[in-house]
Amino acid sequence: MLPKAYDPKAVEDGIYAMWEQSGAFKADTASKKEPFTISMPPPNATGQLHLGHAVMLALEDIFIRFARMQGKEALWVPGTDHAAIATESVVIKKIQQEEKIPDPRAKLGREELIRRIADFVGKSQDTIRSQIRKMGASCDWSRERYTFDPALNRCVNEVFVKMYKDGLIYRGHRIVNWDPKMQTTVADDEIEYVEETVPFYTFQYGPFQISTARPETKFGDKYVVVHPDDKRYKQYKDGEQFECEWIGGKIKATIIKDKVIDMEFGTGCMTITPWHDPVDFDLAERHKLDKEQIIDFEGKLLPIAGEFAGMSIEEARPKIVEKLKEKGLFVKIEENYVHRVAVSYRGKGKIEPQIKEQWFIDVNKPVVPWKKKNMSLKEVMQDVIRSKEIEIIPDRFEKVYFHWIDNLRDWCISRQIWWGHRVPVYYCKKCTEIVNGKEVPMRLLYIGSEPFEVHEACGSPVTQDPDTLDTWFSSGLWTWSTLIDPALTEDYSLDLPDLLKKSPDYQKFHPTTVMETGYDILFFWVARMILMTTYATGQIPFKKVYLHGLIRTRDGAKMSKSHPETCIDPLEIIPKYGADALRLSMIVGQSPGNDSRLFEEKIGGYRNFVNKLWNASRFVLIQCEEAGLQPNEKLKIENEKLSLADKALLSALQDLITDVTEGLETYRLSEVGERLYSFVWDYFCDWYLELSKGEANPQVLIHALRTMLQLLHPYCPFVTEELWKSVAPRGATLLIKGVWPQADDSPKNQGAFDQLQVVIDVITALRSIRAEQGVDQGKKIEAIIHTKEHVKVLESQRGHIERMGRLEKLTIDAKSAKHKNAASVFLKGVEVHIPLEGMIDMKAEKQKLTKEQENLRGFLAGVEKKLSNEQFIANAAAEVVAKEKQKLADAQEKLRKVEERLKLLS
Ligand SMILES: [Zn+2]
Repeated sequence: MLPKAYDPKAVEDGIYAMWEQSGAFKADTASKKEPFTISMPPPNATGQLHLGHAVMLALEDIFIRFARMQGKEALWVPGTDHAAIATESVVIKKIQQEEKIPDPRAKLGREELIRRIADFVGKSQDTIRSQIRKMGASCDWSRERYTFDPALNRCVNEVFVKMYKDGLIYRGHRIVNWDPKMQTTVADDEIEYVEETVPFYTFQYGPFQISTARPETKFGDKYVVVHPDDKRYKQYKDGEQFECEWIGGKIKATIIKDKVIDMEFGTGCMTITPWHDPVDFDLAERHKLDKEQIIDFEGKLLPIAGEFAGMSIEEARPKIVEKLKEKGLFVKIEENYVHRVAVSYRGKGKIEPQIKEQWFIDVNKPVVPWKKKNMSLKEVMQDVIRSKEIEIIPDRFEKVYFHWIDNLRDWCISRQIWWGHRVPVYYCKKCTEIVNGKEVPMRLLYIGSEPFEVHEACGSPVTQDPDTLDTWFSSGLWTWSTLIDPALTEDYSLDLPDLLKKSPDYQKFHPTTVMETGYDILFFWVARMILMTTYATGQIPFKKVYLHGLIRTRDGAKMSKSHPETCIDPLEIIPKYGADALRLSMIVGQSPGNDSRLFEEKIGGYRNFVNKLWNASRFVLIQCEEAGLQPNEKLKIENEKLSLADKALLSALQDLITDVTEGLETYRLSEVGERLYSFVWDYFCDWYLELSKGEANPQVLIHALRTMLQLLHPYCPFVTEELWKSVAPRGATLLIKGVWPQADDSPKNQGAFDQLQVVIDVITALRSIRAEQGVDQGKKIEAIIHTKEHVKVLESQRGHIERMGRLEKLTIDAKSAKHKNAASVFLKGVEVHIPLEGMIDMKAEKQKLTKEQENLRGFLAGVEKKLSNEQFIANAAAEVVAKEKQKLADAQEKLRKVEERLKLLS
């Protein structure tokens, strides 16, 4: 017999170990079954599992368990991400704090720093693995991958070289987001903007007045730009030159006319700094103007700044303003000018735009063979969504996706950090070549097992490009690089198509079935997987994209570790409530793409559900024991022995199986969760078990319980597997490996279901009248039921109605009559009346109601007065007024009910 209470902490780890040992997680490449594949979004190998991971794991585990039970060859590939910049910055900070080394890169050198980061990652990976297990994730650990595995590095190099040869990867000078703190380039979508209040200066620049918040960039300015339509500057011609006094002495300046200028802003003219501003850079490109670097990569001023060279921006700014004042070029200062400053999303350093030589992926060059055409990467990305080869759930994100692609610029893939896949390009120290009309060291591509140190043709040593690749370059290959046979990647005679062709896992399991991830990384990652995978393999990476929303606090705020009172840590919750309760609380009520709220009572509510299921199972087992039925027996359900409730339940189970199966197949997980919850609690426990008291059919009970456990297994795998031990048919496998129930396992009997529903409605009506009229719990009452259509059914269930309605007398007939002094409920085709005389103390009840009526009227008058006060309405916040209006409506409704009852009693 089952223990009285369910203790998840005592059983969960054991069950997980049992699943793992049974081989249930392991997919079979040789099987003929239809594949179903998920690539787990690899958590950053930097730390701890948080709720975002927990929801991802719960969703994907539901997909994969459902597919496995449906008889598909289900593969869920787990892994971790080296997360280049995120990891390097964490480790650098750690070394700075713990070892008091201010610049670990300079002090330790490349090799040692990489070794330290790898060490740190190794430890975090162990933590992450154990946390994934805690959630119950049934992933295939034998296929675990890491974005920095040598086999994945091989794939990265192959794709880089292929793109380079196809002319899709190029090196060029472009303005980039430079993070002087982290000493690296940061992608456009890895920066965030913060508002900053700074002084805004206006200076005299020849005949012009220019305004700026950044005087320190103005040293090299020799172009002044005005709008061609600006009447104030009509007398100047485009290209006209003038001499003027400036920070470091006399300069020759040129007037440029360009429509990019906002005439309304300031004086309508500005000087430009192409090296340190993306808009100025574009303008300089258009007009073929010189570009000069003013600030170095450490954020210090260069020699062009004269006596200010070597100073930081903060130090130099007031001194430069002072000098301009001395020279009489200062016009005015406005304090409190608010402007937006770009900050690195990771390192939080202020971004300094810089021109730098970087590696780029050309997204517009039409050289990708796709559907018998040559398309650009951008076009392929659009095509796969437009043609519905890839479906995004929810589909409103398609619009967002297309908008993002329309604005996509060439992708800067090089980073100046050390932790990452290094660019597989080498330079000969002697030979040169001409690229874009410029002589540069000869570029050599190399992928191989031997170190590449000497350019064979000339005998000169080579150096490898110091840059590493953007982390999304490697995670863009995640769905397929994880399926390449690692042994093959050591054979350098194979090319990329060979690796794909000869890898059985890739052949069997790619494209993957569904990619599940947060909507916040649709572009960071999902779009880049589409770009990289279609190009490298000619296949889409996945057929469906399921985007989950963010989990917020009870008040809708973002969960943050700095607010521990509202921030939920899955690893603290699981021992307290069980993984099943956590999973349910994150899935039910969360529709894809929408944010949802989570707080402890909600998780507690689902723990209650898990306990309800446990107690119901105990009840079923006790019934079996009493009836002498072995719960593991093969069932023989005999039709002639079925009660109305049995027939209705069996029919309801058939509908449940159909709904749950269809719901899961169409990824409506919240809806299915609600359906199961309500079936188990409201139908099976509250009605069926009550109705079967005294005449339980153990065969039906076991059948229903087994079916519910099977259907619930993907959502709450631990408790269902534990209960399955007690009711599994002899010889059956573990539930995780079990078969999905079929609708025709249960006979359909809509008539019986509808008839029982009439009985349920009648009992519900009796109960609600009792509650409303304040009839004492223990008191037995009389009821009169008039019905034309349902006399026979209700008669046949008379015992149940009397017992559950607590009746001492029940009349059922086909009449229809008015009843004085009775409370009535009118159902479809059934009238339920309860005479109140003698049931309650009419006089006392009347007094009580009259008093309540007076109170409510008084209260209403107060609220009405408040709401008719114009001053109150004008001054109160909208939500305060709304609250008052709600109060008014609630009280009116209450008063209406009280008056109705008073009428009844008179
Ligand atoms: Zn050479």
